[in-house]
Amino acid sequence: MIDFIGLRIAEFSRLIFPEIQCLMKLERRGCGSPRRSPHDAALTVVLRFDHAYSRAMLGEMKGEFHRILSPTAVGTRWFMSGEKVNPTVGGVLLVARFRGVCRADRIDVPVSDGGPSGSTHLVNGEILPFPDIDCERVRAIIAARLGMEGPMQCQRLLGRALARVLAHEVYHVVLQTSSHGPRGIMKASLTAEDLVGATLRFEPEQLAQIGAALKGEAMDGGRRRLTAALGESLRQPPPQ
Ligand SMILES: [Zn+2]
Repeated sequence: MIDFIGLRIAEFSRLIFPEIQCLMKLERRGCGSPRRSPHDAALTVVLRFDHAYSRAMLGEMKGEFHRILSPTAVGTRWFMSGEKVNPTVGGVLLVARFRGVCRADRIDVPVSDGGPSGSTHLVNGEILPFPDIDCERVRAIIAARLGMEGPMQCQRLLGRALARVLAHEVYHVVLQTSSHGPRGIMKASLTAEDLVGATLRFEPEQLAQIGAALKGEAMDGGRRRLTAALGESLRQPPPQ
């Protein structure tokens, strides 16, 4: 389902510049001080929607994402792109970009082209904390199921599916790995049943890994990677 997209760093800088400014301010203000306790460990996700999205979808996406990570006891804080990020926030920071229309009530049902529903950016060997989610492809995968449901349930199912794709990408970013598993959320390719079925979760070992990474040394490592990536992107010349 994934993953690595060759991306011109200059273009990448242009795409995420508002978030870069926001996160650099966060860094300068000492967010995520090493003095914080493990109870402060958190995952902060900044959501950036390119097009229309449904509030019902968004509520369900956050809820399902919380249920997926809840065994780790790591909280998730959500911000919308452009929103001021709380300067007391610590832990791992990600900016998730949602491409295409993220509503389930559109008549123009997209056709799946078999491409990935989520992806991450690989620059100089680092998986950057800026995953992309393709709403059009997710809608295409679950289109048959959406056709059987009422409007509100459709939004909820789309939110559930997007949460699972997001969790998949977050694992790649936090663990800095491109590996997949034979079952669960980290399967290389997620089917419609995987995306909207009753339950899809990390395998126990994967859950332990991501929980430990979010709570432990990887938090500082994540910030170092983020800072390095931002610094690298800003050193590049603008697009010609
Ligand atoms: Zn993957």
